[in-house]
Amino acid sequence: MNVPQASALMEAWGRGTGRSSTERALLLLGLALPAADPETLSHFSIGYRDAWLLSLRESLFGSAIACLARCAACDEEISVDFAVADIRTSYAEPGAVVTLAAEGGEVRLRLPDSADLLAIEGASDPGEAGRLLLERCLLGETAAAGDTLFEAASRALGEADPQAELSLAVDCPVCGARTDAPFDIAAHLWSDLDDWAGAQLRDVDRLARRYGWSEAEILAMSPVRRRVYLDRFEDVPA
Ligand SMILES: [Zn+2]
Repeated sequence: MNVPQASALMEAWGRGTGRSSTERALLLLGLALPAADPETLSHFSIGYRDAWLLSLRESLFGSAIACLARCAACDEEISVDFAVADIRTSYAEPGAVVTLAAEGGEVRLRLPDSADLLAIEGASDPGEAGRLLLERCLLGETAAAGDTLFEAASRALGEADPQAELSLAVDCPVCGARTDAPFDIAAHLWSDLDDWAGAQLRDVDRLARRYGWSEAEILAMSPVRRRVYLDRFEDVPA
C-alpha cells in the first residue's frame, strides 16, 4: 500500500471538500492504491474498500481510534476508544457472488460497490435506496422481486461482506443499556484528514508570512524541520 505524501493528501482533501461520502471514500482509496485504475477501485466491494481504508488510516494517523456514540436508551453521548485491529473482519473479494434459494429456483447477486452507492445517491429515502441497490446487484433474470426476497438478499449480502457494515457494541456508563453504534471508516478517516489539513494550512500560513516560502515548499518539508522553524515563533505574536 502507498503511504501518500503531504502534497497528495492536501490535493485529495481539496478535491473531496463538498463531495459525497462515497466520492470521498474513493478519493481516499485512490491515495492508498494510486497505480490502480479508478474504475477498478469503484468496483471493490464496500468491505474490501473499507479494509484498505483501515490500513490507510493506520499508516497515516495510527491505529488508535476515538469516536463518539449516542446511547439509544438515554441519549447520553459516550466516548468510544478502540484500535484498528479490533474492527477488522472478513470482507468479500472483488467479483464475489452470493447465491440464495428463492421461490422457483435460486437468485444470484453480486456485492454492492462504490459505483452502486454513487448511482443510488439520488434516492428519495433509505427504503428506496435499498431497493434500487438490490435491483442493481441482482444477476440474470429474476421474476418481480418481492419484499421477502429483498429481506433475504439484504441479509445474505451483509453476511458475505461483514467489513462493509461495522457496528460497535457500546455500553452506556449512565444507564447501562447497550447500543449498536454504526462505525464508518471512510467518514472517520475523512474527518481525520480534515483536521490534519486544517493544522497543515495553519503552519503554511505562519511560515509563508514569515519566510515567504510557497505552500508546496512548506508541505514538502520534513515535520522535524518544520517544527524547528515553528518553535522560533514562540516569542513572536501569531
Ligand atoms: Zn444510556
